[in-house]
Amino acid sequence: MAQGCKSILYTAPTGSGKTLLTAHMLHTAASKGMRCLFVVHRRELIKQSAQAFDLEGIKYGIISAGFSEDRSHWVQLASVQTLARRLARVSEPRLIVWDEAHHLAASSWSDIFARYGTSYHIGITATPERLDGKGLGTYFSNLIVGPTVQTLTKQGYLSPYKLYAPSNVDLTGIHTRMGDYEKREINSVVDRPSITGNAIEHYKRLCEGRRAVVFCASIQHSKHVVEQFNAAGIPAAHVDGETPEDERDRAIENFKKGNIQVLSNVEIFGEGFDVPAIEAAILLRPTQSLGYFMQQVGRALRPFEGKNQAIILDHVGNWSRHGLPDDDREWSLEGRPQRARGEGGAGVSVRICPKCFAAMPSGLSVCKYCGEVFPVKPREIIEKDGQLLEIQAEIARKMVRRQQGMAQSMQELFEIGRARGYKNPRAWAYFVFKGRQQKRNRGIAV
Ligand SMILES: [Zn+2]
Repeated sequence: MAQGCKSILYTAPTGSGKTLLTAHMLHTAASKGMRCLFVVHRRELIKQSAQAFDLEGIKYGIISAGFSEDRSHWVQLASVQTLARRLARVSEPRLIVWDEAHHLAASSWSDIFARYGTSYHIGITATPERLDGKGLGTYFSNLIVGPTVQTLTKQGYLSPYKLYAPSNVDLTGIHTRMGDYEKREINSVVDRPSITGNAIEHYKRLCEGRRAVVFCASIQHSKHVVEQFNAAGIPAAHVDGETPEDERDRAIENFKKGNIQVLSNVEIFGEGFDVPAIEAAILLRPTQSLGYFMQQVGRALRPFEGKNQAIILDHVGNWSRHGLPDDDREWSLEGRPQRARGEGGAGVSVRICPKCFAAMPSGLSVCKYCGEVFPVKPREIIEKDGQLLEIQAEIARKMVRRQQGMAQSMQELFEIGRARGYKNPRAWAYFVFKGRQQKRNRGIAV
């Protein structure tokens, strides 16, 4: 800002303390007599932000449905929907901080942004790009990249994790709408007893007794998941954006105490809404949004006393689209190149152990968790060397030799010879067979 930048985007992972950072910035600005606005995405986040402001000792007013306004304070905390409706009544602030700033492309957001043209804008987000992977350069001139997941984990601010991908779903034919999978189509793929059953089985195997949050595709889906967990003897509860506040708070409180082990939701816990004591995340909603993926796994990475490792169960192949939570990511205001988005995009280099289902960087030849030796796939050799044809020819030669070596009788050799289109397969088979017998007689193993 000292250099003249008026719009700055700050990115750092979920759990890096963005709310506290925001509170500190607002406090400092307000103490200098600047009118400030903090814009949040959801009504639920008003209460949470208010708590952070209270801790920081900030005096503030709230612009949100259900709260009476008090404009006497330098800092105003606003939900985007309410602010958009009352825009004419709210005078232009000196500083606006945008929570979850990747939403700026939405019209209600960009209308507010455009109206406050002379304000300083600071955007805060864990994933500085739009849902479709496009950048936020339209709104911000500078990008500040905070510490990475790896750094925060090393420093103890985030919990180490293990990601398992014990199953995947077939998304063939699923359409994309607004940059992500079509919700109804997705729901019909994931809302199945077999998939939930698989999730329960692996929950029991890998994190029985630990508090897990499940991310579902729809309210109906989430309710079905909860039914099945309860039927399996694992106490579970469902919450969504429509759940009455007291009921939701009760569920979260019970989860915190461990009376409920599995808390299932659709989107509410993804964005900013803090649930303490999460030890595991169960992903049952496939998404093309790196933002959703990072927010969901980010929930499980918050450390607390007695937790040594988070478990992430990815049953829907989100790892294949987004890589691992602590992969290094190159952010820019221009967004990611097209090829780096979506299924198997560049930069995703993850291997799932076929034995224990744990995910790890693809460079390893042995599972770092269970010691399983990975088979080398021809495709990987090709990718490494780039000498496609030569390697394919070599693989073909090897396979031919193996096939020939496995043939036990002259008849089998004859079949091979014929399949290979030899001129006289019978004679060829005879020579190969005789040759073997002679070797055997001389004591050479064949
Ligand atoms: Zn393994």
